[in-house]
Amino acid sequence: MGIDTPLYVILGAGVVGLTTALELKTRFPASEVIVVAKHLPGDRSVEYTSPWAGANWLSMATDNGVQEEWDAVTFKKFERLSRQSPECGIRRMDIRAIFDSPIENAGILSQGTGKIWYEKLVGGLCEVPTHELPQGSNFGYDLSTFMINVQSYLPWLQVQVLKAGIDLRRAKFDDINRLFESFPTAKAFFNCTGLGSYSLKGVEDHNVYPTKVHHQLLSLLSHMTLGGPTILYYYRRLYPETDTYVFDIQGQILLVETPSKPLEKMYFRSPKRVASDTTYVFPRFPHGGVVLGGCRLDGVWDGNIDLDFAEDIKRRCCALCPDLGKPEDLKVLYHAVGLRPSRKGGPRIEKQFYGNRMVVHNYGAAGAGYQASWGMAKYAVDLIIQTSHL
Ligand code: FAD
Repeated sequence: MGIDTPLYVILGAGVVGLTTALELKTRFPASEVIVVAKHLPGDRSVEYTSPWAGANWLSMATDNGVQEEWDAVTFKKFERLSRQSPECGIRRMDIRAIFDSPIENAGILSQGTGKIWYEKLVGGLCEVPTHELPQGSNFGYDLSTFMINVQSYLPWLQVQVLKAGIDLRRAKFDDINRLFESFPTAKAFFNCTGLGSYSLKGVEDHNVYPTKVHHQLLSLLSHMTLGGPTILYYYRRLYPETDTYVFDIQGQILLVETPSKPLEKMYFRSPKRVASDTTYVFPRFPHGGVVLGGCRLDGVWDGNIDLDFAEDIKRRCCALCPDLGKPEDLKVLYHAVGLRPSRKGGPRIEKQFYGNRMVVHNYGAAGAGYQASWGMAKYAVDLIIQTSHL
């Protein structure tokens, strides 16, 4: 690269960092882009959320604003990818979504309009007939959306990054100023560190929820090598009286073998769109196994797998999707726990100047890091275009 070639550095190689890198390189093909991260696709760590996701597109945005826009941009991108690059692991698939709360309390209606904003985008919602609703549920709908096999998609993103001539480097930075020193000629930096933004000096986002949390969650944080003790330190200083958390929500999942007749549909059941006792069945079509979830905030758990809870997940999933068979017959391939990087006020996508160094933050995607990824990346890159820095 020539001396005048603009250099952009992205910290983080989860779905958010890799997508941001691709968006940047597509918009500025003549620029040099470097992605630096402690974890890269292929790694498995509780500090690295992206490998643990289910995943699918089922928007949880209701802001009647940018978050809905991010999901819409990503839905359209997934549509193209599933047609043009089916090897990427994204596949069009129906989902049946069941809610136990009445619709007005289910967290799915857009602010202002009182409607489900994506009805037209997905090609319509089909109400589940009353006689097909499971006991205790209130309503449900079927829709056509996307299944994301993250085991394929994350490495695929990495390959696209390398094919685009983006440099991938493995490194850990405890302080954002060290990043600036390492790349003195960079025009801008993108902070896509997910959970790492807690403890990354110079960022240290303490935008915590003053919300009741279970002590087991805090004990999990204290066990984390990246930032756990730091988080606890600040949390205790900020909220000495209140239990508080930022890492919402822990998700425990199982991957089980594909049944002899592969499932062709995903299933979701929850009191609300975002809740602590969600049940979901995401087949990684056709033979990549089936992800069974869900989450919880209560009970006895720490960073380790809770096998009793895994049994509960199996039972709930088989009840929701009888084609899975009996819970005792499921062949478990592995159990996993992941932490969704949530943030009070929603994801942070904004630019910040450190002297003459510009950083665009792009983190805090919570449970939507895949389904919002392309929209978030576009929004983040737009921020540098709106700057005279270029
Ligand atoms: P991460 O994947 O955690 O990546 C962070 C990157 O930053 C890593 O490369 C890390 O090494 C690096 N990093 C951090 N700090 C530093 C540092 N100091 N120095 C160097 N590198 C650093 N989303 C959906 O859209 N749909 C779903 O259906 C869905 N299901 C989910 C199910 C579960 C069980 C879980 C756990 C999550 C699910 N999610 C889903 C959420 C999604 O996985 C996350 O939103 C997403 O992975 C966040 O990506 P990220 O790139 O921000 O963070």
